[in-house]
Amino acid sequence: PPQTFPYDYLFKVLIIGDASVGKSSMLLRFTDDSFDEHIQSTIGVDFKVKHMDVSGKRIKLTIWDTAGQERFRTLTSSYYRGAHGVVLVYDVTRTDSFENLEQWLKEVQLYSPNGGENVVKLLVGNKIDLERTVPREQAEAWARSQGMLFLEASAKTKLGIRQVFMEVVQKIVENP
Ligand code: GDP
Repeated sequence: PPQTFPYDYLFKVLIIGDASVGKSSMLLRFTDDSFDEHIQSTIGVDFKVKHMDVSGKRIKLTIWDTAGQERFRTLTSSYYRGAHGVVLVYDVTRTDSFENLEQWLKEVQLYSPNGGENVVKLLVGNKIDLERTVPREQAEAWARSQGMLFLEASAKTKLGIRQVFMEVVQKIVENP
């Protein structure tokens, strides 16, 4: 039979944000350590599983991708159901993807119990290997004002990708 690994906690984390900011790329970099310049955005990924050891606990992490559905604005309450953490992603070279985050955060608040106050949220500026248009300080300040963690990353170079998921899981484990 296929081997199943014992774990202490099962967590669900979502990756959301505008199309093409690099959500699938971040997921595939983290779970498969792969990167594709010509990734097919329409195919996307449903979810991937990763086992991690964090704070002395064995975590089974399921990470959900929008699989391109964000283009049609059809993410619904069922996508958000049971999520312990949300990674909100923008592209540091695209100011519009940063400005749209407010809408994404509203959706998290709308579809999560208690307005999402118990959901761990981490803001990620992806594509930091390219020339930025969104200042780090601006994004950091907004994240802080909304009670979100903040990191910059690159799915292409790997920079910060592991840290993104480590920090989310760590914060979920610490959650009361
Ligand atoms: P999604 O629609 O948000 O899932 O975005 P994708 O993962 O499909 O990525 C969109 C495009 O951006 C693809 O061509 C990727 O190769 C590219 N991309 C993703 N992450 C990075 C990154 O960190 N740096 C660079 N330079 N390109 C990236």
